[in-house]
Amino acid sequence: MNEKEKLFNGGVLTEARKGAIEPPRDLWENKKNGLVIIECPQRIPCNPCHTSCPTGAVKAFKDINDQPEIDYEKCTGCARCVAVCPGLACFVVDLTWGGDGVALMKLPYEMLPLPQEGETVDCLNRIGNTVSKGKIVKVLEPMHDRTMVVHVEVPRDLVMDIRTIRVVKQA
Ligand code: SF4
Ligand code: SF4
Repeated sequence: MNEKEKLFNGGVLTEARKGAIEPPRDLWENKKNGLVIIECPQRIPCNPCHTSCPTGAVKAFKDINDQPEIDYEKCTGCARCVAVCPGLACFVVDLTWGGDGVALMKLPYEMLPLPQEGETVDCLNRIGNTVSKGKIVKVLEPMHDRTMVVHVEVPRDLVMDIRTIRVVKQA
């Protein structure tokens, strides 16, 4: 099975596509508040990432089925797109956060139990495997519908792997 078949049959972005959606490193390393990453590889009739973006960083669609294109210079890391995307396909990563070896991710979250600030959670990759622990920094109330945006401190070298969290309640 080739990479395209794996993506569309398995529903998971493969390693071969990672570089395609990583923001430009020079800008990303110094962008306070972070830059958006959008993993929306199929043509579907959907555009709230564009219509909700206050800065025009998600470029206008020529066709409602277009895949989002990003003008990274315009992205402020506000995470509005994270909150409104129905596919939970938008993430913000702040590489300027904290000290050595950590970064801040702003992730969409719709599960229970809700994470709490200061809590340690599992960080999962695209196929649901735990790849590290993370620390919840902030849980924002929904900006739209019921999707929360969770700020999580994670290992910096895993920001292109981690895509969600799991709350692990102690017995
Ligand atoms: S993080 Fe904010 S500025 Fe950046 S693309 Fe999303 S909505 Fe637009
Ligand atoms: S809102 Fe989400 S699912 Fe819809 S086009 Fe944008 S990134 Fe894709």
